[in-house]
Amino acid sequence: METTWQSVDKFLESLTAPDDPVLAAAVQAAEQAGLPSIQVSAMQGQLLHILARAIGAKRILEVGTLAGYSGIWLARALPADGLLVTLEADPKHAGVAQANFAAAGLAGQVDLRQGAALDTLPTLLPEFAAGFDLCFLDADKPNLPAYFEWARKLTRKGGLIISDNVVRNGEVIDGQDANSTGARNLLQTLGKTGNSTVIQTVGSKGYDGFALTIVE
Ligand code: SAH
Ligand code: MG
Repeated sequence: METTWQSVDKFLESLTAPDDPVLAAAVQAAEQAGLPSIQVSAMQGQLLHILARAIGAKRILEVGTLAGYSGIWLARALPADGLLVTLEADPKHAGVAQANFAAAGLAGQVDLRQGAALDTLPTLLPEFAAGFDLCFLDADKPNLPAYFEWARKLTRKGGLIISDNVVRNGEVIDGQDANSTGARNLLQTLGKTGNSTVIQTVGSKGYDGFALTIVE
C-alpha cells in the first residue's frame, strides 16, 4: 500500500525534479547490473545539490558511490573547475558509476577512487590540504563514526558534513544491529560537538534522516 508520504514524494518530484534522462539512465544501468536500489531519492538528491550550491562548494567528498546517483546530483552543483572525489569499495559498483558519470558528461569533474574508504581517506589528507567544502557520508553504517572523524579532518572550517541514513525507520533509538548502532554512535558524537542537526526524511525511500554538521 502506498503511503501518503510516498504519493507526496512522487508529486513533489514531478514538480521540482521532473523527467531527467541522465538520472533515469543511471538508475536503469544500476538495475541492469543488479546493484541494490539504495541510492538517495530524487528529492534527497536535490537537497544535496541545493546545499552544495548554497555553500558554493568547489571540492566535494562522497563516501559510498554505488552507481553514482547522488554523485551526479552533487557533481552538477560544482562550478566548471570543481571536483567530486567519491569512494567506493565494490569494483562492480565503481565500474557502473564510472560509466554513469561519463554518460552524464561529468567524467572530468569526478575522481572515483575504488577501495575501502578507511584505506583511501588517509591518503586524501596530504592531497586535499585546503579541505573539502562538503562531505557526504553514505557507505556502510557501522563505520559512520570513523568516516565522520575523517570527514572532520578533511573538511575546511565552515564546511558541511552530511551523514545519511541516521534515523533508520526509528531504529536509531534502540536498534541492536550494527547499522543502527553505527548511526546511534555517530549521533552521540555529534551531540557532543554541538554544531549539528538531524533532518528526518520521509518519501519514496521510507523513513530515515540526514545529519548535518558544520565543521568548526
Ligand atoms: N551514495 C549512493 C548510495 C551509496 S550505497 C547514492 O545515494 O546514490 C553504499 C555504497 O557504499 C555501496 O555501493 C557499497 O558498496 C559502498 N561501501 C560499503 N562499504 C564500503 C567501504 N568500506 N568503503 C567504501 N565503500 C563502501
Ligand atoms: Mg544512503
